[in-house]
Amino acid sequence: MPSRMPVLFAGHGSPMNAISDNNWSRGFRALGESLPRPNAIVCISAHWYVPGTLVSSNQQPRTIHDFGGFPLELYQVQYPAPGSPKLAGRVAELTGAEQSEDWGLDHGTWSVLRHMYPDADIPVVQLSVDVRLQPAAHIDLGRALAPLRDEKTLIVGSGNITHNLRHAFTSMQGGDTKTPEWAARFDQGVAAALERHDNEWLARAPATADGQVNHPTPDHYLPLLYVAGASSQGDRVTFPVTGFDLASLSMRCVLCG
Ligand code: ZN
Repeated sequence: MPSRMPVLFAGHGSPMNAISDNNWSRGFRALGESLPRPNAIVCISAHWYVPGTLVSSNQQPRTIHDFGGFPLELYQVQYPAPGSPKLAGRVAELTGAEQSEDWGLDHGTWSVLRHMYPDADIPVVQLSVDVRLQPAAHIDLGRALAPLRDEKTLIVGSGNITHNLRHAFTSMQGGDTKTPEWAARFDQGVAAALERHDNEWLARAPATADGQVNHPTPDHYLPLLYVAGASSQGDRVTFPVTGFDLASLSMRCVLCG
């Protein structure tokens, strides 16, 4: 009986976490060491948020530095993991995604994976987040990916459960580290919904008042819905990393399985 891979949501936060030794990077490293080693990874990153469901089919994906105003060291990071046209084909078959060579690995993917798998020796493909779809459709796409769990493929959603960047930057500039009530409440609500496998709650959440404050745009929330969709009622849900960065950015990671 082949073992079933767990599904992971990674709270990635600031790109600086890619080159930092902190709670978050150490949390990612510990995850890489504790999870069963996958044959391949499909990552749904908040940073490939486009009108379409695309899967990256490059043999050798480039490292994309999709941010501005950070130190040179961050632009020099390369994550030379191979791609997998074979897995891209399988993802296309399962989800109806269109294969594309226009993307590579963005920092939503490599800022996490370079800590989890520093040798960059596991093939990685990315699946885009379609801006046109309603939350329930993202959950359905996650469900369509679930068979990959029996094929030794690790499904990773990369975003943040709370992500109001304007608040985070203002807090950083003012040296304010206090987590606002609206962020703590939304983070707790999401965690509880995940624990009871309440995908309807998760689909409704972005349109609620708290959802709007925590996600002025839903890009960092939606990858979580793929993880929720790919998990099943029987999965144990745990939170290997919790806490807030820049006051209001939840770094909670979710492991189902
Ligand atoms: Zn991000």
